[in-house]
Amino acid sequence: MPDVTDAISPRGDGFAPLPPATKDPEKIRSYLSDESSAMSGSAERVYFPENAGQVSAVLRAAAREEKKVTVSAAGTSITGARVPLSGGWVLSIERIRRIVRDEGADVVPAGFVPVRHRDMSFYLNPETRQAIAPAGITLNEFNEALARYNLVYPPDPTEMTAMLGGTVATNASGARSFHYKPTRRWVRGLEVVLPTGEPAWMRRGERRARKGVLSIETAAGTIPVPLPRAYPVFTSKNAAGLYLAEGMDPVDLFIGSEGLLGVITAVQVGLVEIPRDVLTCVAFFGSIEGGLAFVDELRESAGATREAPLSLEYFDRRALSFLRDSFSEIPEKAAGAVLFEFEYDRAARHNPYPARTALEPWIALLEEHRAISSWNVTGRDVSRVREFRHALPEAVNTYVRARVGKLGTDMAVPARHFRTMVEAYEKADSCGVKTVFFGHIGDCHLHLNFLPENREELAVARTKYLELARLAVHLGGTISAEHGVGKKTIEDEEGHSIPYLEVMLGAEGLRAIHAFKKELDPHFTLNPGNMVPEGYC
Ligand SMILES: Cc1cc2nc3c(=O)[nH]c(=O)nc-3n(C[C@H](O)[C@H](O)[C@H](O)COP(=O)(O)OP(=O)(O)OC[C@H]3O[C@@H](n4cnc5c(N)ncnc54)[C@H](O)[C@@H]3O)c2cc1C
Repeated sequence: MPDVTDAISPRGDGFAPLPPATKDPEKIRSYLSDESSAMSGSAERVYFPENAGQVSAVLRAAAREEKKVTVSAAGTSITGARVPLSGGWVLSIERIRRIVRDEGADVVPAGFVPVRHRDMSFYLNPETRQAIAPAGITLNEFNEALARYNLVYPPDPTEMTAMLGGTVATNASGARSFHYKPTRRWVRGLEVVLPTGEPAWMRRGERRARKGVLSIETAAGTIPVPLPRAYPVFTSKNAAGLYLAEGMDPVDLFIGSEGLLGVITAVQVGLVEIPRDVLTCVAFFGSIEGGLAFVDELRESAGATREAPLSLEYFDRRALSFLRDSFSEIPEKAAGAVLFEFEYDRAARHNPYPARTALEPWIALLEEHRAISSWNVTGRDVSRVREFRHALPEAVNTYVRARVGKLGTDMAVPARHFRTMVEAYEKADSCGVKTVFFGHIGDCHLHLNFLPENREELAVARTKYLELARLAVHLGGTISAEHGVGKKTIEDEEGHSIPYLEVMLGAEGLRAIHAFKKELDPHFTLNPGNMVPEGYC
């Protein structure tokens, strides 16, 4: 957290005074990029509000002074979403770390008790397993505090330094989303400050869009917003574009909205008990078909004949090649691996070998699908599998660092078309660029990475990337299932740079988002350039 020594003198606006800010270029620098490192912006100052009132003050001041505002959380996004490409001000949520009951007496219902952990505080109802937490805490911190109650917040987007508000704004998911589903499923309510500075508190189930109009309740009154006439509705995992649908809940509007429509300051979430004992299994297959058939069976039977695994991940043969030197567990003949985790009860009564018993049905299934071998671990040994999982992105990053970087996809398709997508991934390196793919096979969501050797190969990979994105859309899938689109662009077949989201929604879809945003943000103050570039419409 930066040391705000050069706070700009607050100018009240009749509601709340402006929070501290910094104008120091050195301190501002860390807010100008994100984990993508693909782009860099500029900002005149960074504000550090602590609550909704101060967020409101910043947004009202920005409107008066005709400044653009970009919201920043932890900056772990890999799409440039928090990069202030249009300049103006940055609003960092990192100091929104406390829920104060006085500020939202009606926001904290009966049954919730205050929890303090380090310098943060939130409200918890251990019985209903819900919490109301400030947007600026990291997932790591949140789970650390919840562990005392044997509870965990399920979304796990790998980067646990991400902040709660950032993960809601991107509808983050991750390795365990096969079991737990993306963030959307866990959000029960939100406190949001609209771009005009109006705070709004909404709880899931209280309102629904009707007759093509979504109404948002604020303290100052109801804001009716017309929904676009034609806009796609995604039933499978998706993090690209706004969620707009007849009958929708206003809470869903802000989840995955990449900060276009408001600043999230507090979130009411559902929690689960920490999984008891987890058995992790890496099954190696001699052919990709064996792995796919095994996963198909797990996917189809999940919830019916057996509990869905906590995670279901895939590593292709090229991924295994990257790992072979460090992991002797990988058999020579392995052409792919499926990693899955499931919960079991180590303290099961009258059973001296609970892990073995829990594993038996899975082993039978693996044999049926001709797995070569499986590497099964519990307890402390899980750390070795964790290394296996994390070693791959690291190995890939080390490989590309000496070259021209990588191009990674984030596409997902409906299960019935998954094999077509996998075939396309398998053949992607026929364009002459090295590839590797791995990821969330349970959700039909694999990340194909192009690893070009030079600029020429990078250009070839870009063309292939567009081809794959078009295929995913053609198959009824998404161009981004968990990372969002942020400020990503892509070259079309004619060599024109277009917003990445246009590949999925077309120019009409982007115009619909622009028109919808205008209803809530008439001066396009907040997060300009996300989803729809400035000047596009
Ligand atoms: C190595 C690595 C692995 C990753 N793996 C995954 C993965 O498996 N699954 C996954 O889903 N993601 C993954 N990510 C992406 C990333 O972690 C997520 O996008 C994360 O949810 C962003 O949170 P953040 O706090 O860093 O937000 P930021 O990056 O700071 O912001 C992200 C966007 O949200 C907006 N925003 C932030 N806070 C608010 C707010 N309070 N109100 C309104 N808008 C806001 C910002 O303006 C920006 O548009 C990965 C990233 C890395 C680097």
